[in-house]
Amino acid sequence: MVQCKTWAIVIKTLDYGESDRIVTFYTSDFGKVKGFAKGAKKSKRRFSNALELFTLNRLIFFDKKESGLVRIEGCDIVNAFPAIREDVRKIAFGCYLVELVDEMTGEREANPDLFDLLKVFLSLLSDGDGEAQILRIFEIRLLSLLGYRPWLDRCLRCNETLEHSVKVHFSVKKGGLLCERCSRGYMDLIPVSLGTAKLLHVAIEMDLSKIHRLKFSKQALGEGEAILSKFIQYHTNRELKSKKFLKDLGM
Ligand SMILES: [Zn+2]
Repeated sequence: MVQCKTWAIVIKTLDYGESDRIVTFYTSDFGKVKGFAKGAKKSKRRFSNALELFTLNRLIFFDKKESGLVRIEGCDIVNAFPAIREDVRKIAFGCYLVELVDEMTGEREANPDLFDLLKVFLSLLSDGDGEAQILRIFEIRLLSLLGYRPWLDRCLRCNETLEHSVKVHFSVKKGGLLCERCSRGYMDLIPVSLGTAKLLHVAIEMDLSKIHRLKFSKQALGEGEAILSKFIQYHTNRELKSKKFLKDLGM
């Protein structure tokens, strides 16, 4: 068995039997890792609240090569993001962020940029007012980091810039925008304004440390939601549980 240390965010927890727990982490060095926390429900002293959803930890685990589950040895809380837990809207947002990461990633596929993205967005959620744009920016950056970056600055068919189109449309199947001329004859296109397309493009390109400065209009939020929800559902083949939770809250 090999001992490993890494930064880790709890993205899913599942009680197992009387006293144990299976916890899924997104880690900085190993990507998604599932671990077995023996006695986690009984021994508060050992794990404290480190295994609660969203918590950022310094994690120590033993990698048992013969099993997919690692053995969780120690977990030191770095940030539990308590402000998220005090607000039902923020909980719904947080659940969506971590479920999206869980759903879109495979185990042991390291992606340190994705770890940083999740960490930064949990901080933004914790410190901010729970603005809906957090979800849209997170979605589009996650898609880009996982190789599904939508094509937003030119028409994906004729490669012309979109400045001269009055209307542009997003194709979920093709993963990008079509100009007015190329949109003809296509089914299942989502109309989008040029302003929103540009904003989403900036949301991908902008330095992560400055991302809190970006502001979405109501129109951009609506159009961004329409595009990104369909695009993500196309790749996950199902609606996420937390998406239903968001809808129940009217978001
Ligand atoms: Zn075109």
